[in-house]
Amino acid sequence: MIAHLINTDVGNRGVLGVYLDYRRANPNFLHNSARMFLDNYARILIVTGFPIPPDMIPETDGPPGALALAKAVEALGGKAEVLTYSEAGRALKRFGVELAEKPDLSGYSLVIAVETPGRAADGRYYSMSGLEMRREAFDWAVLKARELGIPTIGIGDGGNEAGMGKIRELVERYVPHGERIASVVETDGLVLSAVSNWGAYGLIAEASIEVGRNLLADWDEEKAVNAMVDAGLIDGVSKKLAPTVDGISLGVHTRMVELLKEITGYFIKRS
Ligand code: ZN
Ligand code: ZN
Repeated sequence: MIAHLINTDVGNRGVLGVYLDYRRANPNFLHNSARMFLDNYARILIVTGFPIPPDMIPETDGPPGALALAKAVEALGGKAEVLTYSEAGRALKRFGVELAEKPDLSGYSLVIAVETPGRAADGRYYSMSGLEMRREAFDWAVLKARELGIPTIGIGDGGNEAGMGKIRELVERYVPHGERIASVVETDGLVLSAVSNWGAYGLIAEASIEVGRNLLADWDEEKAVNAMVDAGLIDGVSKKLAPTVDGISLGVHTRMVELLKEITGYFIKRS
């Protein structure tokens, strides 16, 4: 139900085919990731930020989701740190988020990558339009975590993000430029969504239903997105400095969040 909602392809970016096939083979993908989150939130490293060519300024998709996850971890009594680009870090700091500079992966219980460039088969990083992303990438944190046996969750919406290596064939089949941009970086859990922020909110909603407590209740989408824009983050699709995400108006995002909150509350009350 929540998995379906967060995969509503408002931006019509080709993720629908990927989602339908992925879901058919993995009907419990969101639930499984929520369980992994709840079993391992003691000390989480959240990696986020996707620099958009040609100027390599990070986009507004990703950091709000990372912020919501960090807040949810805190509410549960865990500890969260975020590894991201300086622009996004500035915005996150205003919300009291702890930033990780050069994290030693061995200290973490879980790594979540939200809209993080994941290397393609040729070792490079690509935007959805097939342009090369030329800025420091953080997918090494996911690779290192896997090497150490630390659980990992990837959240993505296009196929070029860390985690999507898990369903590379589907990305190649359905997403424009799929063969070029598909990431080979896999994660244990993969949350597919139409907008990566929604993937993060959906994961929190699913975890909320599991624990019987609405961890999304205080989430303010407008405040979060505006803070990212104030810090200089741009829309990844329009490439404009505007309070939109993936080319979709803020009104759609705030209402998606309201719907997620309401459904989560409804399920909690019913159970
Ligand atoms: Zn993306
Ligand atoms: Zn996106």
